[in-house]
Amino acid sequence: MKRFARSLSLYVAVLGQLIASTVIAAPVIADIQIAPAATSTRIRLIASEEIPISAFVLSNPDRLIIETPDINFQLPPDSGVTSQGAIKSYRYGKIATDRSRIVFDLASPMVPGDIVKGTSMGGGAYTVSLFLTASDRENFDKAAQTAAISKAFKDLGPTISAPSIPDNRPLIVIDPGHGGNDLGATGVTGLFEKDVVLAFSMALAKKIEAQGLCRVLLTRDQDVFIPLDERVKIAHLHNAAVFLSIHGDTIAAVGDVRGSTVYVGDERSSDAEAAKVAEYENKADSAGGYTPQATDSSVADILGDLTLRETRTRSSLLARELVTRIADTTHLNRNPLRAAGFRVLRAVDIPSALIELGYMSSKADLDQLTSSEWTDRMTSRMADALVEFLNPPRSGPDIAKP
Ligand SMILES: [Zn+2]
Repeated sequence: MKRFARSLSLYVAVLGQLIASTVIAAPVIADIQIAPAATSTRIRLIASEEIPISAFVLSNPDRLIIETPDINFQLPPDSGVTSQGAIKSYRYGKIATDRSRIVFDLASPMVPGDIVKGTSMGGGAYTVSLFLTASDRENFDKAAQTAAISKAFKDLGPTISAPSIPDNRPLIVIDPGHGGNDLGATGVTGLFEKDVVLAFSMALAKKIEAQGLCRVLLTRDQDVFIPLDERVKIAHLHNAAVFLSIHGDTIAAVGDVRGSTVYVGDERSSDAEAAKVAEYENKADSAGGYTPQATDSSVADILGDLTLRETRTRSSLLARELVTRIADTTHLNRNPLRAAGFRVLRAVDIPSALIELGYMSSKADLDQLTSSEWTDRMTSRMADALVEFLNPPRSGPDIAKP
């Protein structure tokens, strides 16, 4: 509470000095004041100029995010270490060239309400106050889910990374299945598929990046729910050269079924088992509490069957390349190449595949999935397969897109 004892005139003086002594392009935030009450909390930012802010919440863990333009943070040294009411702690920093964020860890669910702007008493500093109100779990999660979806869209914008030199390397979109309220399959040891596949996908992205020949984008890099159609949209918006969805299988029947399987999209399933897997994975939206809108078929109509056929041929090549490469590293399902109507494999013009890394219901597979040594080898093989698919050797048949 000692920060409250400081007078505003001090901040005004600090701000005055900062502005006088240095050329500051970005506005300064000189303090963040937290005033907790029983059912509400006020967060006040003390700034060198009027700044627009927006606020939203995310869950797992519960966080409040205040987004601002690029900020020159000049906070007192003990800032962030707090434990005031619902706010456990906070951290801050730049997240893009033109955006900064303050992230508050919440001890209990709170949702943002009114934002009130003003000036300090002496008139030398600007204040912006955000009022939080206590919320129940259900409403908080709802708010967090809405925020996560809109954030996924926002992050598609050009502001996140706008390299001055266009990067023409092909883009691989890696799609870690499930997330947020949609847990995916639960492993025999209680592990969730959403966590296993996220860790794997991030390791795979690193391997691809290390090779330097392709760019890579994850549809999610945290524990958030993203509807199936949005995942495909992300690939389209970024002109992905390849889309690969990462999952962990499950099976209701008892038995020692195990192994990796690579799927391509097709409305006619290769077998009954494949159809069942697709049916299960397509339930992700409802598991996440989301009702998808009817699929927009206009894209398919414009591009026509020819593109679809070509894409399917290439998807099959990709799937085969993957299976060939991972064969010496993982136990393969007895029929490792299959097809079924996965909602996430619907891009008409992007070669797409989905890999079920192994069965979450098999102890042997789960041991592999959680082994760092196996993950290291498996991600290397898969990165090789993806990069080779997009950059085939010059002497070989030229099947890559120009
Ligand atoms: Zn899955």
